[in-house]
Amino acid sequence: MLRLHDTATGRSEELVTRQPGRAGIYVCGSTVYGPPHIGHGRFSLVYDILRRFLEYSGMAVDHVSNVTDIDDKIITKANEEHRPTEEIAAQYEAEWWEAMSKLGCLLPTEVPHATAFIDQMVQLISELVGLGSAYETNDGVYFTVSAVADYGLLAHQSLDSMRSGARVEVNEEKRSPLDFALWKKAKPSEPWWSSPWGRGRPGWHTECVVMSLALLGEGFDLHGGGQDLIFPHHENERAQSVAIGKSFARHWMHNGMVEARGGEKMSKSLGNVLLLSELFEQIRDPRAYRLLVLQSHYRAPIEVTPTTLSDASAALDRLDALRGRLAELGDQESEGADSEVLDAFRARMQDDLDTPRATAVLFEAIRGANIAFDAREAGRGAQLGRAVIECFAAVGLQAKGVAEIPGSVLDLGRRRDKARAERDFAAADALRAEIIGLGYLVEDTAAGTRIRR
Ligand SMILES: [Zn+2]
Repeated sequence: MLRLHDTATGRSEELVTRQPGRAGIYVCGSTVYGPPHIGHGRFSLVYDILRRFLEYSGMAVDHVSNVTDIDDKIITKANEEHRPTEEIAAQYEAEWWEAMSKLGCLLPTEVPHATAFIDQMVQLISELVGLGSAYETNDGVYFTVSAVADYGLLAHQSLDSMRSGARVEVNEEKRSPLDFALWKKAKPSEPWWSSPWGRGRPGWHTECVVMSLALLGEGFDLHGGGQDLIFPHHENERAQSVAIGKSFARHWMHNGMVEARGGEKMSKSLGNVLLLSELFEQIRDPRAYRLLVLQSHYRAPIEVTPTTLSDASAALDRLDALRGRLAELGDQESEGADSEVLDAFRARMQDDLDTPRATAVLFEAIRGANIAFDAREAGRGAQLGRAVIECFAAVGLQAKGVAEIPGSVLDLGRRRDKARAERDFAAADALRAEIIGLGYLVEDTAAGTRIRR
């Protein structure tokens, strides 16, 4: 059973799902106003890895991740470029999915768009106003955070301590600086929808709480996102659900941030944001980024630098080389995957998705497999190798063997080994020339002829 650190309790908890064998997961997705960067890539990979591992463990996963297609930032961008918000959102959403596909992330099982749920958002806000948990001002409708007794649960702070730390508010109509907008009244030239409070648009925190409850239902299993979303976004999503008496996420999971060289925070103001499109130019294979994410704990920050990326690329080469050696065996060795490696990998993954230790197990097995192959213990090498390939595939990293070599060519290699063993060097040389003539390279190794493209 999978144990995960829960942000709400601060402890590692078993992920006990509402329905056995089925997990309902909501991950805050993209606000589509700019091209995706490596921080977006990281969180998408983290939850893709979680989902794939759950599926590998035999569970069905409902993976919902939203697209925020109306938001202040989209409006600002649209105004700057004199283009409609829909066009901005459509352009960057297309870029988003293209980048996610390059990273090998599965498409979520559902991708709700905020603008398709406006009616339900208005309904929720009306309910909150009716309950006295929200109030109207000149510029919108605000949620009264004091309406929720355990407000601050995720932030691990009391309402009082948060209040004293809050910035002095410019909006004098707000009753508390922590109260947040559920509905924003439209200024001239802003897109709008009708509501009992006039034309306007929903606030971001309302978008996610409505979409998660609409698609996954009350008490869904897990809510995830980056650590930067814990407060106020997730706290405020939860507060609205609590205020209407609906149980919200059973488990909260948050991933660490991406750091630039020297542990520097990645931010627009520091000018060190690396876009995914720029990353793909730097690394020849996007799988290297998945491997870098796997080699870091999901709760820890990761440093993305030319060094960490090239280390990950080199490690990826070791995996692909192993796949190549396995391919060379063809179906000569029918050994199954090594169960000790499989068990060790699963045990580490089940311990709060400890992917760094889980991948360490796999790289140790790659070493073992290479030693076995070199010692002509092809059966042992194949067992270890197959376990490695299976485990990496379970977390979405498909090993690519050097292009598969046809059986007829591998046969020539075997005949050459036999000729050499019989000291018939003329025949061995003729076979070597034949293989080279077919466009392959011939290498002599301790384990015999090795053919490469
Ligand atoms: Zn959200």
